[in-house]
Amino acid sequence: MNKDEFNKVWLSSYPKEVPASIAYPEIPVTDLLVQSAKDFPNHDAISFMGKTMKYNELMNDVYKFAHGLKQLGIKKGDRISLLLPNSPQSVISYYGALLLGAIVVQNNPMYTERELEHQLVDSGSETIVTLDLLYPKVMNIRSKTFLKTIIVTSIKDYLPFPKNLLYNLKLKKEGQYVPIPKQDGVCFFSKLLKSQPVFPIRVSIDPKEDIALLQYTGGTTGVAKGVMLTHYNLVANVVQETHWLYQAKKGQERILGVLPFFHVFGMTSVMNLSIHLASTMILLPRFKAEEILETIQREKPTFFPGAPTMYIALLNHPNVKQYDLSSINACISGSAPLPLEVQEKFEKLTGARLVEGYGLTETSPVTHANPIWQKRKTGSIGLPWPDIDAKIVDPVTAEDVEHGGIGELAIKGPVVMKGYWNRPEETTKVFLNGWLLTGDMATMDDEGYFYIVDRKKDMIIAGGYNIYPREVEEVLYEHEAVQEAVVIGIPDPYRGETVKAFIVLKQGVTITEKELDVFCRERLAAYKIPRAYEFRTELPKTMVGKILRRALVDEEKKKIDQD
Ligand code: AMP
Repeated sequence: MNKDEFNKVWLSSYPKEVPASIAYPEIPVTDLLVQSAKDFPNHDAISFMGKTMKYNELMNDVYKFAHGLKQLGIKKGDRISLLLPNSPQSVISYYGALLLGAIVVQNNPMYTERELEHQLVDSGSETIVTLDLLYPKVMNIRSKTFLKTIIVTSIKDYLPFPKNLLYNLKLKKEGQYVPIPKQDGVCFFSKLLKSQPVFPIRVSIDPKEDIALLQYTGGTTGVAKGVMLTHYNLVANVVQETHWLYQAKKGQERILGVLPFFHVFGMTSVMNLSIHLASTMILLPRFKAEEILETIQREKPTFFPGAPTMYIALLNHPNVKQYDLSSINACISGSAPLPLEVQEKFEKLTGARLVEGYGLTETSPVTHANPIWQKRKTGSIGLPWPDIDAKIVDPVTAEDVEHGGIGELAIKGPVVMKGYWNRPEETTKVFLNGWLLTGDMATMDDEGYFYIVDRKKDMIIAGGYNIYPREVEEVLYEHEAVQEAVVIGIPDPYRGETVKAFIVLKQGVTITEKELDVFCRERLAAYKIPRAYEFRTELPKTMVGKILRRALVDEEKKKIDQD
């Protein structure tokens, strides 16, 4: 059966619409795994670098890890930071911590020490699970945080023998090998698991009240805040996604796990969804186009959630046509707008349906998506998912705007966060009579499809990563030659947007772009570094001296229009 025939059969055998309302089980997130391990114990849960792990094996390791954490004194409500790339350990640590009622704090392995320190301190994490290669970063800041326990793992822990030996040799050769010295509070993931029993742990969890996750985001103001997502929020988004995907069958899908799990989109749309559907999660610790193409050909995923830059990178790979990518049936693209050209080319290449969705950390994250098998609209983020109420309000008066008008998108529904961790004032600011204000300007057409027009907030999205101008500006201001700095996003054909910095230097000082670049690289993750600089003698300002970022954005837009 070719792909077109297959799609026709699919279309004829599925309901015509995603229901407007569904029931959400009030269960802890970990029940998704417990259920799948019970129903599909011998089905592959994970495929990672040539090694597979069955649902009962995963469940057992999760129980062992939870018992290990309990032995270390961790209890319900404690924050556990994870600093891990996608790997069996990231899945085990996540579910193990949740099983114990602890709160998971996700950290990006690309963070600099200063960024990591902020999240560890703000969340009050006393425990961190990390990779041997990232251990030095953690140790350098340990004394400035509340960390008491550091659990270290290595990618090789889950590689088949002798691949794990080869891994060590490779790292030694590349000079990256990090022997972990015996120290107080440092323990090994593999040793922690070894001595533990595999029976369930019972901790009473109130899914609607108890926080499962602190997911850091800049939100509307730019300062990284911990979004409190409850067990109920996370389960609801997975159940909604399952209905949206209505053709998905339990125990039959294979989901490509290249979106990082430390970001809320990968965590929900790959990890939790895959566990709920008893699918096989094909884990990739990093994005490298060639590796992804090889993996798709070898592992035959059926569902590929991604960001626009990922689909672009695959399409632009010189040998893309040599790979068989026909196993993919559906893709959901989120995080940033999906260019039409990319959608069309990727669909032609694979025969899959690639649709655009939308969401934000504060909504666990997905609230809208185009239907996969029915009408989708170009440039639209699609329809709200079941039980999501979405409306458009005037950002100044907070009144509902007239039908077809542009305003701020506001959301209500089971996926909306509990609030920001330890920031009641910030929380109050983003809620309006129970509606969450997204900070995105949007409009809705006659058929109820939504369109994102612009961002109210200043966030820049480069290659799927969020960059908050204020954070980059703060670093630039730290340089002794800089008098004023402002950062905006400018269009970039590959990354969607990229960072441009406008700088006013102190009088009589000179400095090169190169020097500023070196300065930023020492203080910021690579994706946040400005790719363009412009030196000016002054910057546009308001009457009260506030720099007019918007005016610079408009100037850049005009330049592009003239070109
Ligand atoms: P995050 O909290 O990291 O998930 O980022 C959320 C933000 O990403 C939203 O508030 C939007 O500004 C942006 N975003 C997500 N999906 C889309 C999309 N399909 N089109 C445009 N912007 C998007």
